[in-house]
Order: sequence, then C-alpha cells, then structure tokens
Amino acid sequence: MRRETPDADDGPEPQRTSERAALAETRAIYRLAGAAYSAFSCLASGECCQLTARNREPWLWPSEWRLLLARGPVPPPRPDGGCPFLDESGKRCAAYADRAFGCRTYFCARRSGPSREPGDEVQRLLRRLEKANQQAWPEVTGPRRMLELAALPPPEPGSGATNPWALTESRPKR
Ligand code: SF4
Repeated sequence: MRRETPDADDGPEPQRTSERAALAETRAIYRLAGAAYSAFSCLASGECCQLTARNREPWLWPSEWRLLLARGPVPPPRPDGGCPFLDESGKRCAAYADRAFGCRTYFCARRSGPSREPGDEVQRLLRRLEKANQQAWPEVTGPRRMLELAALPPPEPGSGATNPWALTESRPKR
C-alpha cells in the first residue's frame, strides 16, 4: 500500500528538551518497527489508507503528529475519505518517511511474509512510544485518531508550548 516518496527534513525544532527527546525516541521506535516488519511486504494498493471506507484509522501520539506536521501544512480532506497524506493517486503515501507507528505495523491479510506478525515487539515499542510522550506531555492521556487530528484548526503561533497537539510557532500556515 505505502510506496515511498522522498524524505522531508525534520522541520522546525520543538521548543523543549523533553519534546526533542520524544521526537528522537519516536524516530528510533520507527526504525525498530521497520526492522520488525522487514520480512513483510504487501501489494501497495493504498486500500488500507482509505480510512473512512475501512472504518479503521491509525491513532497517533503527539510526537507522531508533530513529525507529520513538520513536513508542512496538513493536506485538505480527500473527497474519498482517505488519509489526507495520500497523494493524488490515492495509492502512495506522501508522508512515507514520517508515517505513524500504526501505518508501519499494519498489514492486511493479503500481505506476504512470515505467518506470524511480531506482536510482542509491537507491544514493547508501543509502550516505549507511550512513555516518551507522557514524559514530554504529561497532560496527554492517549493517542488520537488521524482524521480527528487532521481536522484540527492550525495552531496559533507560539501555541506549541502549551498545546501538545499543536506544532511549534514556525509551522507553515494552511
Ligand atoms: S500517513 Fe496516511 S497515507 Fe501515509 S501510510 Fe499512514 S494512513 Fe496511509
């Protein structure tokens, strides 16, 4: 489903040391998730990114959302209800390098590879992701749905210090 597009840079740096640590930890977790699923592959149809049609969405912690926002403005909603980070073809992820943990660890039944998914490793990495986020944003109680986050209004300049779901003040305007 998720064909690769070129990497974006990391975007503006967050303001607090704990936030920078959470982003670094999230990138490390993403690398480990990729390693855990390195033996798996899929048809790259993009069907699993049709979030409304499938009634299934990735749930993101603030660090995951910030890595996506650092790429630039959130694309507008798609008329087909798919993830806004899909490209025009509806088959390629335009944010592949920064896609969420749930995007990296979901493969549908048509996948190829080992018969069993690395469930224990996924749970271990999820606990790391939660810990990193709760250290950076203690007020956050859990992840939020991708489409819910994408519908949030752009944060006001400077709101990143108090709103864990917002980005730092240098986020581009929509
Ligand atoms: S970010 Fe969106 S388009 Fe990219 S893999 Fe995840 S659900 Fe699919």
